[in-house]
Amino acid sequence: MKVAVIGTGHVGLITSATMAYLGHDVIGNDLDEEKIVMLQRGQAPFFEPGLTELLEETLGSGKLRFSFDSQEAIRDADVVFICVGTPPKASGEANLIAVESAAKDVARYAGGRVVVVEKSTVPAGTSARVRRTLERERPDFIDKFSVVSNPEFLREGSGIRDSLEPDRILVGAESPEAFEVMREIYAPLVDKGAKLVETNIETAELSKHACNAFLAMKISYMNALARLCERSGGDVDSVAEVMGSDERIGSAFLNAGLGYGGYCFPKDLQAFERLASRLGYDFGLLKEVERINDEAVDATADKIIDVLWNLDGKRVTLLGLSFKPDTDDVRFAPALALGRKLQAEGATVVGYDPQAMANAKSEMPELEVASDPYTAAAGSHCLVLCTEWAEFKTLDLDRLKQAMAYPLVVDGRNMFEPEEMEKRGFSYYPTGRSPIV
Ligand code: NAD
Repeated sequence: MKVAVIGTGHVGLITSATMAYLGHDVIGNDLDEEKIVMLQRGQAPFFEPGLTELLEETLGSGKLRFSFDSQEAIRDADVVFICVGTPPKASGEANLIAVESAAKDVARYAGGRVVVVEKSTVPAGTSARVRRTLERERPDFIDKFSVVSNPEFLREGSGIRDSLEPDRILVGAESPEAFEVMREIYAPLVDKGAKLVETNIETAELSKHACNAFLAMKISYMNALARLCERSGGDVDSVAEVMGSDERIGSAFLNAGLGYGGYCFPKDLQAFERLASRLGYDFGLLKEVERINDEAVDATADKIIDVLWNLDGKRVTLLGLSFKPDTDDVRFAPALALGRKLQAEGATVVGYDPQAMANAKSEMPELEVASDPYTAAAGSHCLVLCTEWAEFKTLDLDRLKQAMAYPLVVDGRNMFEPEEMEKRGFSYYPTGRSPIV
């Protein structure tokens, strides 16, 4: 099929490349000209494992092209995926201006029958607005447009695998023809066993928010338990093991720590709560999930302040700056929220991350960065493990300790083994577990 993808960010670029890999003819379009020029040269504008190789393969096969010209991308397309950003407004509601603008482009440039797919995460009811925009902009074409909701569930860091081997593909549509087109486009994945779930549009839109909010809730639940464990002498990792071995609960997303971040959970949770409120339902649970998540960063900052007393003149090292491992994305990263709090208390904050240093520096210019973990730890009074990159598991702990002014480690992801830290002579402060002082 001929596919246009509007927005070549984390979702749009991976969608473009995987659709081309599945055999469709794809044009990726973005209003960021610099990004398009990079992509035309085969350069990925962000770090995602396997993406450069997939771009090379699909650009090489001629199945994938990129264009700054939205008319060129849209005019021959059978299917247009809208993958633009839906950032939060100050009120927490999703800002859907880019979705509207993409819908207007589709209306303006569609050359024939086209299925318009919302892949961006949007509040329930958005498809009706997209449809209205299409009809208003192109009244003569009303019968040619079908609107579909096909929310994206990929995770940064494993985005390509998630797209090629999804847990499920969710399609909400309003007509049998639109379902048929979506079945055809995903046939290569469904043939390999992917589960296709078909619903009405509002259910699909709502399900995406429901999933993200539920996962965020699991994390906040564990962080609330971490606070309790710290006060009672319990061990939150053992509690998680007990809970996770109950198949009704499941073991995923039961990690206490610095909390969730990134471009999905924080904004989607707020947008979901705002949507509920607009619909006349007070979904207070979601507000509490957000409060507990903020508290996770505050609790870690308090721990550091408690151990170091005054932060003025002290140096704190943050290991890991991205919101999670295997991505360079620092949007709403807990590490940066913590860094800002420590700086406000007077600390000098230095960070190291395997991939996200440039992005962290542009979000937080006053952050010092170092080229490796040992340089980052040099002269440091406290080291905080913020993001559980695999390379931190194999750190030379003796070298780290030698570099530091005080041998203090706060573990915001419970990555280190307490016995090992004790053996190496660190004072070790994990999350929701007994400290070793
Ligand atoms: P992103 O910021 O990485 O990319 C958005 C892209 O859209 C940018 O390149 C921007 O230049 C482009 N854009 C904006 N307006 C445009 C327009 N009118 N025409 C053409 N291009 C335009 O965002 P993202 O992380 O890819 O997220 C996109 C959507 O997918 C959001 O709704 C997000 O919530 C959702 N989502 C994200 C993830 C994730 O892990 N990042 C996962 C699932 C769903």
